[in-house]
Amino acid sequence: MREVLIRGAEVVVTMDGARRELAGADVLIRDGVIAAVGVGLASTGEVVLARGCVVTPGLVNTHHHLYQTLTRAVPGGQDALLFGWLKTLYPIWAKMGPEEIRVSALIGLAELALTGCTLSSDHLYLYPNGARLEDTIHAAGEIGLRFHPTRGAMSIGESAGGLPPDSLVEREADILNDCIRVIDSFHDASEGSMCRVGVAPCSPFSVSRGLMKDAADLARDKGVMLHTHLAENDEDIAYSLAQFGCRPGQYAEDLGWTGADVWHAHCVKLDSAEIDLFTRSRTGVAHCPCSNCRLGSGIAPVRAMRDAGVKVALGVDGSASNDAGNLIAEARQAMLLQRVQNGADAMSAREALEIATLGGAQVLGRPDCGSLEVGKRADIAIWDVSGLEAAGAWDPVAALLLAGPPRVRHLFVEGRQVVRDGQITTIDLPRVIETQNRLARQLAG
Ligand SMILES: [Zn+2]
Repeated sequence: MREVLIRGAEVVVTMDGARRELAGADVLIRDGVIAAVGVGLASTGEVVLARGCVVTPGLVNTHHHLYQTLTRAVPGGQDALLFGWLKTLYPIWAKMGPEEIRVSALIGLAELALTGCTLSSDHLYLYPNGARLEDTIHAAGEIGLRFHPTRGAMSIGESAGGLPPDSLVEREADILNDCIRVIDSFHDASEGSMCRVGVAPCSPFSVSRGLMKDAADLARDKGVMLHTHLAENDEDIAYSLAQFGCRPGQYAEDLGWTGADVWHAHCVKLDSAEIDLFTRSRTGVAHCPCSNCRLGSGIAPVRAMRDAGVKVALGVDGSASNDAGNLIAEARQAMLLQRVQNGADAMSAREALEIATLGGAQVLGRPDCGSLEVGKRADIAIWDVSGLEAAGAWDPVAALLLAGPPRVRHLFVEGRQVVRDGQITTIDLPRVIETQNRLARQLAG
């Protein structure tokens, strides 16, 4: 039996059913699970002092392309809309291989961990030069984050009227076979699972209708989740109307891409009928506000979706379109962006924090994560609010989003300390950064 006691927090934000915030409270972890939350707990195990800290559930990231940390701030892609941005980056991505995929994943996951994330999904939809999904799975294992990798895919290349170059697309039969391989090899459906695999054709404009349908059938057969990009911007809607004769929501519904086991990234352009469809079908949304701003895609109707009962979570999106992977900053951006559109009372700091934690766990189908309650997995972020950023704050919980700090002091995943005093404990981060920069220079050369 292994115990860790997080003691004497300024506030413990539970995200339980009553959204209780407990002043001066402790959290007791036993064998990777939360054993108690309350004031004056005792343990004979390790003690981590949390004086001056806000303790929250670990944040959940529901959309990323980790490999893109190798193509941050690429000059030709800095100021382009989605389709032009993709066309600039595809030839660079085509030069990557297994080492690039693994190292870039370590970088992206380290950045997430330091900014409060304990559970991340990833959407890997290109496999150049022998790269495989497990290159990212091994990286997540090294760093110790809970991981939901999705087996993405592109099958319609330029010669067939698609957007990506032919060298980056795969045969549809090969895609489905590799989905089966990675699910059978790496998917763990059990409670407390550290790895769940999903099926994720890249987008309706890079795979066929047939593959969308087959992917949905396969995912249901295997009991895994489905993920893709949907209704990202006006170009995306125009493409759907021109190619499929319907809006993206209709396309998704027709092909089996709605349900509690599906989540779509972006959904910036969902109309009211589509929001209603998502509510009825319990389909989830990965809201990626920084990427939407960066690519000028628009403001997702998060207020309307939340009011209608749609499950909304956060995603930092790939690092070629953010270009940060800072999840607490993403929560702040989500809050600010709704206010731009709907006024200052459109989203509170606490609601944004709820979307970033509980909301993410709900979208990814993880009732065992997302809140600090007895029996839940011990995925915990500890934020030091005694420092510069929150100095003078009257409400330390709201200050997390309104002021800072931008990084955690400590982070626990499944009860294991992945960040201690602001440093990753599991990998030699300075060395990985060096390798990453060397690989980026090679790609640029
Ligand atoms: Zn994306």
